[in-house]
Amino acid sequence: MKVADAIVIGGGPAGSTCAWKLRAAGVDVLVLDRAIFPRLKLCAGWVTPEALLDLEIDPEASPLNMVAFDKLVLHWNGHTVNLPTRQYSIRRYEFDDFLLRRSAARIEQHNVREIYRDGSDYIVDGRYRARYIVGAGGTACPVYRSFFRTLNARSSQSQIAAYEQEFPYDWRDPSCHLWFFDDGLPGYAWYVPKANGYINIGLGGAADKIKLRGGHVRDYWRSLVTKLERQDLVCYDGYDPRGYSYYLRDNVDVVQLDNAYIAGDSVGLATRDMGEGIGPAISSGLLAAQSIVTGSDYSLDKIHKYSATGFAKNIFERRKVAA
Ligand SMILES: Cc1cc2nc3c(=O)[nH]c(=O)nc-3n(C[C@H](O)[C@H](O)[C@H](O)COP(=O)(O)OP(=O)(O)OC[C@H]3O[C@@H](n4cnc5c(N)ncnc54)[C@H](O)[C@@H]3O)c2cc1C
Repeated sequence: MKVADAIVIGGGPAGSTCAWKLRAAGVDVLVLDRAIFPRLKLCAGWVTPEALLDLEIDPEASPLNMVAFDKLVLHWNGHTVNLPTRQYSIRRYEFDDFLLRRSAARIEQHNVREIYRDGSDYIVDGRYRARYIVGAGGTACPVYRSFFRTLNARSSQSQIAAYEQEFPYDWRDPSCHLWFFDDGLPGYAWYVPKANGYINIGLGGAADKIKLRGGHVRDYWRSLVTKLERQDLVCYDGYDPRGYSYYLRDNVDVVQLDNAYIAGDSVGLATRDMGEGIGPAISSGLLAAQSIVTGSDYSLDKIHKYSATGFAKNIFERRKVAA
């Protein structure tokens, strides 16, 4: 049996951030992830300056490859608005690997199936033992499944169905474009340029509404691709998009039970307006670590529920600097 002070299940932004802060406090941490890193994670890869600040990453000095945007180009109902705001794009393939390695935690590839209690410890698949367990395994997190599902049943109204592809592309337009509610999509589509000649295009929308309309995200994908070609943004013939689903922030009642915690997508923390999940995953990972180290309450109440609050703060701060 392998023993650690804390086992973190999932090495995405929630898990790696939690592991990083636990390690910094001298806690012996073992991260278990079913994937070998670097791994593919379906995600547009938009990160906010607030998320980078939480990670203590200076975008100007970081070895990570990022594209900085000084505005977002928003399209709605035939209108276009430039929203002046500093935001960034990263490639999750690189970003998640960087964060996990930086955490300095022990890492093992292992697909977790069963977790149970043994006295004050948690046993994972009969092979790993720890006093603390952190569930950061995303939507299908086994810690959520084992201990929290009945306490925090996820609502189908908060489920987002997303469809996307990231591929090498010699993009010419360096702006990040977002199209809201195009062709009846109950959500938005995106064009996100990435560093070193990559692009991510995709869309996400309320899963229950898409189903109610008898549609599938695939149908909206076709019109997105047609639009990108018409607007001369992307013309590509190697499409192989993939789908994934996750949950927007809802009423989350219980996120800690004894020494078991859940963080990030395993809770369902993506913002209600934009489906931004990386920042909330990082914040919750930090808070879980703080609670384990100091014994403080683990509350997610202060994690932002709307990305618009961040945009407003960002615009205000930029105006202050410019004045
Ligand atoms: C198409 C799409 C686009 C998105 N775009 C954005 C965006 O641009 N900006 C943004 O902020 N958010 C975006 N999101 C949301 C964002 O990707 C998630 O909110 C974020 O990844 C959550 O991080 P996490 O660490 O909680 O989970 P994850 O990043 O999903 O990490 C979970 C980890 O757990 C591991 N795992 C799962 N099950 C097990 C198991 N049984 N045993 C061991 N390991 C396991 C997985 O392999 C994975 O590495 C997008 C989501 C999708 C689907």
